[in-house]
Amino acid sequence: MTTRVKAARERLGVEGIDALAIPPGDDLLYLLGYTPHPDERPCYLLITPAATLFLVPELNATAAAGHVPYPTLTYSDAAGPQEALREAALRLGAPRRIAVGDTMRADALLRLQALWPDARFVPGAQVMAPLRMIKSPEEIAALRRAAATADAAVEAVFAAARPGRRETELAGLAAEAFHAQGVPEVPFAIIASGSNSAYPHHERSARALAAGEPLLVDVGGRLDGYMSDITRMAHLGPPPARYRDIHAVVEDAVVAALASIRPGVPIREVDLAARRVIERAGYGAHFIHRTGHGIGVSGHELPSITHSNDDPLQAGMAFSVEPGIYLVGEFGVRLEEIVIVTERGGERLSALSRAVRIL
Ligand code: ZN
Ligand code: ZN
Ligand code: ZN
Repeated sequence: MTTRVKAARERLGVEGIDALAIPPGDDLLYLLGYTPHPDERPCYLLITPAATLFLVPELNATAAAGHVPYPTLTYSDAAGPQEALREAALRLGAPRRIAVGDTMRADALLRLQALWPDARFVPGAQVMAPLRMIKSPEEIAALRRAAATADAAVEAVFAAARPGRRETELAGLAAEAFHAQGVPEVPFAIIASGSNSAYPHHERSARALAAGEPLLVDVGGRLDGYMSDITRMAHLGPPPARYRDIHAVVEDAVVAALASIRPGVPIREVDLAARRVIERAGYGAHFIHRTGHGIGVSGHELPSITHSNDDPLQAGMAFSVEPGIYLVGEFGVRLEEIVIVTERGGERLSALSRAVRIL
């Protein structure tokens, strides 16, 4: 893990940044393989070209010690962080440009601004995104293991789905399926039945499934620090022609996007490949989000797969391809794959068919 800290330090020089401040969260997990529980007690990994410091509340110091091979400053709840912060400033000097991790709480950022009133604060993604965006073979292997657990969670939901079952029950079953495979964290489980499937980020409700309806299942968990994310569609009973037509358009959009993936291709081409299929079928206005998002330690990270992203695809990128068509008042269809960019093209991690599962 210290090689990642080293890589982050090297990027400070490239970006002209004097210090990087990382709060508890996914960046820290990426850098150290460890992150403490985030709360109102300030906690930062502080990296400058010359030094690395960890500032952590006393109660987390022992747990952190095994993961953080850097000088550590602690403070008690009663004393508060002021003294530890002053000590950090003494040791690190007066950085002029400070990059802060994207998920830093405002109160933690305000403390840094008070400590270094003359500094300019810039987004930590400037340092972290280029590192996190390209996955190592170990990271790809972790994403692959995570993807297999998501496939099984989808199967578990489909196996239990029938008229009368509530969305909330199925979301519980999805989480259980992840937990049974050793996945400790299940940050989301979207179970959208019938007309609820027309809302891309519908989470779940007490609505009971009914015969003759579609069911959208979009689930993901975090295994060994890496996220999964998959969407598949089922139908309770044989789907009508209207559903089959829409599903076929979304399937064609996925196929077109997957076929466009190759190192060097501008990212916008992936989005456009999917979008053109949906527009040609007359549903362009109902594809109301980007084609995909990067995935790794975070469920959503860079790159963003939009038609305004001119950056080139690079081998080792991992992202979702998840076009959808959303017909409010009727239903929605989304199909989602996680793909790795390889020299040979896009490699999908799921082994599940995208055909509608008839229950
Ligand atoms: Zn999403
Ligand atoms: Zn998803
Ligand atoms: Zn997704």
